[in-house]
Amino acid sequence: MSLIISAGTLGSLAMLDFCPRCFWIKLKCDKIPFQIPMPGIFSSIDSYVKNVVRNYYNKEGKLPDWFPYVGEVMRFANVPSYQRYNFTEPQSSVTLRGVPDEVFQLEDGSYHIVDYKTTRLTAAQGGLFPMYEVQLNAYAYIGNRTFFSPVSTLSLIYLDPDTDLASNPNLLSRSGDNLMLGFTLKVRGIDIKPDHFIEGLLQRANEINEAEMPPDHTSACQDCELLERLIEIASLES
Ligand code: SF4
Repeated sequence: MSLIISAGTLGSLAMLDFCPRCFWIKLKCDKIPFQIPMPGIFSSIDSYVKNVVRNYYNKEGKLPDWFPYVGEVMRFANVPSYQRYNFTEPQSSVTLRGVPDEVFQLEDGSYHIVDYKTTRLTAAQGGLFPMYEVQLNAYAYIGNRTFFSPVSTLSLIYLDPDTDLASNPNLLSRSGDNLMLGFTLKVRGIDIKPDHFIEGLLQRANEINEAEMPPDHTSACQDCELLERLIEIASLES
């Protein structure tokens, strides 16, 4: 069966600590143990921000002043679900899918794709940048072949919570009868890569997926050793 892969999963191939063994295992297993589910609060904040921005635009005919500049926006494009927003790359026969948070059509008719990240723009987050770069380029790759051609620009927008009361005591005035938490939006532009950037990653994902045996691990991670120890201990019990 041909591989179907999300833009986010494809992005993991670009991480410095990428481990092909873990990638192979995750592709083969529907479920793996000891996974901590993502807290739902992040997707709630993302969709809240999307609704606020969209409502403001519908009412005022422009983006809010606190929204980072992403070009001359003419309209919000309707983003299809992942069942429709996908593309099967003919060389590898891998289907790439994923849903961007927002797509704006710009004055010149081209499209700008945005992905929100509810987090601080810290050095640690910078370590995830290669993954996000692939994710957004994957959205552009699909968009150029389906609904949003041409995609001209890409942005990551970080929703950075305003919690630093020491350097900005005015934040306290936001809360009166209700506790209020605000966010500062910070934009980081992403370069659009040539098609072979995504196609090479799809090829690599397919090669790992088609391997009959799990590849060697290459990361500094020691979880495999810990797992072997766990299996050893568990087998002593039986
Ligand atoms: S070494 Fe770590 S990353 Fe690699 S397969 Fe084992 S658990 Fe996964």
